[in-house]
Amino acid sequence: ASGYSLLRDPHHNKGLAFTEKERDAHYLRGLLPPAYLSQELQEKKLMHILRQYQVPLQRYMAMMDLQERNEKLFYKLLVDNVEELLPVVYTPTVGEACQKYGSIFRRPQGLYISLKDKGRIHEVLRNWPSKTIQVIVVTDGERILGLGDLGCQGMGIPVGKLSLYTALGGLRPSACLPITIDVGTNNEKLLNDEFYIGLRQRRATGQEYADLMEEFMSAVKQNYGEKVLIQFEDFANHNAFHLLEKYSKSHLVFNDDIQGTASVVLAGVVAALKFVGGNLADHTFLFLGAGEAGTGIAELIALEMSKQTNISVEDCRERIWLVDSKGLIVKSRNEFLQTFKKPWAHEHEFVRDLSDAVKVIKPTVLIGSSGAGRTFTQEVIEAMASFNEKPIILALSNPTSQSECTAEEAYTWSKGRAIFASGSPFNPVEYNGQTFIPGQANNAYIFPGFGLGLVMSGAIRVHDDMLLAASEALASQVTKENFEKGLIYPPFKNIRKISAHIAAKVAAKVYDLGLASRLPRPEDLVKYAESCMYSPAYRQYR
Ligand code: NAP
Ligand code: MN
Repeated sequence: ASGYSLLRDPHHNKGLAFTEKERDAHYLRGLLPPAYLSQELQEKKLMHILRQYQVPLQRYMAMMDLQERNEKLFYKLLVDNVEELLPVVYTPTVGEACQKYGSIFRRPQGLYISLKDKGRIHEVLRNWPSKTIQVIVVTDGERILGLGDLGCQGMGIPVGKLSLYTALGGLRPSACLPITIDVGTNNEKLLNDEFYIGLRQRRATGQEYADLMEEFMSAVKQNYGEKVLIQFEDFANHNAFHLLEKYSKSHLVFNDDIQGTASVVLAGVVAALKFVGGNLADHTFLFLGAGEAGTGIAELIALEMSKQTNISVEDCRERIWLVDSKGLIVKSRNEFLQTFKKPWAHEHEFVRDLSDAVKVIKPTVLIGSSGAGRTFTQEVIEAMASFNEKPIILALSNPTSQSECTAEEAYTWSKGRAIFASGSPFNPVEYNGQTFIPGQANNAYIFPGFGLGLVMSGAIRVHDDMLLAASEALASQVTKENFEKGLIYPPFKNIRKISAHIAAKVAAKVYDLGLASRLPRPEDLVKYAESCMYSPAYRQYR
């Protein structure tokens, strides 16, 4: 191979870090300036450049350019500066990038499958250069973050999520495949945008949609076998629950919006209870928002509660209440409720407002998963603080503007007694001379390690017990020191260690359940997980 193409191959390019010997051996003489810059120096230089950009989107684009130019350096930056760069390559910046995807588009990333490819999805998959795929993240772009239908421009999401799979969970970049399924968009603005990159038609639904998904799912299995993990991402809830339910019987599928969120939030609650006291069954839960996140979390809490107590899951659900856009979910609403809400319709009089629901239900844990900002009002938080010594309040909605309340509001209105975490990051808050650090219930705590655990054991199906194992593994990483500062999640900077730990617990569960295809079972699963993880350090070329 020529030196010229080596420099243009993102998987092998090292820029000025090619040694004299390598420059001789690989025909690079003259194609590079004479200086040698180590990977560490390159990293220092790039971080300096990134920090000079004031606009988050510029940082995002600089990172995407780097990923296309020099993959190892991209991951080195991401691994060494997780806390700083996570918001750049993922939420909130990735949201803005998706909205403007048409105009910042340079070289296409990921694989696009549209209605036009009906009947030949198998061939489209074969156009992808890498043949050994372990993880696919797929979206149809209908519910991108809290931003709604972005159609084909949702591609930023699978690309971003998979870069976290590699950086945080150590999956090899070449084993990751981002896919966007384009069935049209109902976003008028995009339909009328002359630069829109997707199909210019309204969304296919019903049988047409189901058929395309079916063809896609079987083509994936045919191409990559039974052990490829398919993560559904940012599908609207009218498709998400159904797809997950349908394909969990025949494929290794995972929905991060439903299951990943549930596992992360359960971990936070369990960590909080270690210090607040009481078991799950001693607590009462109230949710604002009964969609993918809300009902997903509720179901996993009920399941864990049932395991801890031997009370049936049905009875455990009675301690969990949900409010949707119409009010408290109760029996009398049953015939008008979507299927996924029905298990939560308890015998109770209907209550319209959240603040009234809080006063009658008297929850010990209040969880916001509505996408509706400023809904945890002073009245709501003061009520929570009036009957709880330590009210647990989680405001999960993203982005920051949609958070149910701010960290400052939660601490101030509860007079410093709330245990608070949020979906979007908030800065530390001073109250009465005390500093509180709000935790972030970020899905990135769980899915990379969860995926690694499935892949390294060769899992063929996902089981809820694996989600519980991941949750428990994460909760166990929270120390007393973390909690004393207000944190119910461990600091992000140790995420690779945390991921290895989660992967080991998940893999152990896969083996216990007889769903592992990688045999024999490694003796030390944590060590094995660590040994599987991709390293972003440059390699020496002979
Ligand atoms: P979803 O499936 O669309 O569900 C939204 C739910 O909120 C629906 O039940 C909806 O009611 C309800 N709702 C909307 N506006 C409301 C209002 N003003 N008052 C009360 N309820 C209202 O969305 P999702 O996937 O669950 O996501 C919801 C939010 O959670 C998003 O902002 C997302 O960013 C966030 N989230 C955070 C995390 C995290 O922190 N790790 C993870 C996942 C999601 P109807 O059913 O009546 O329409
Ligand atoms: Mn998502």
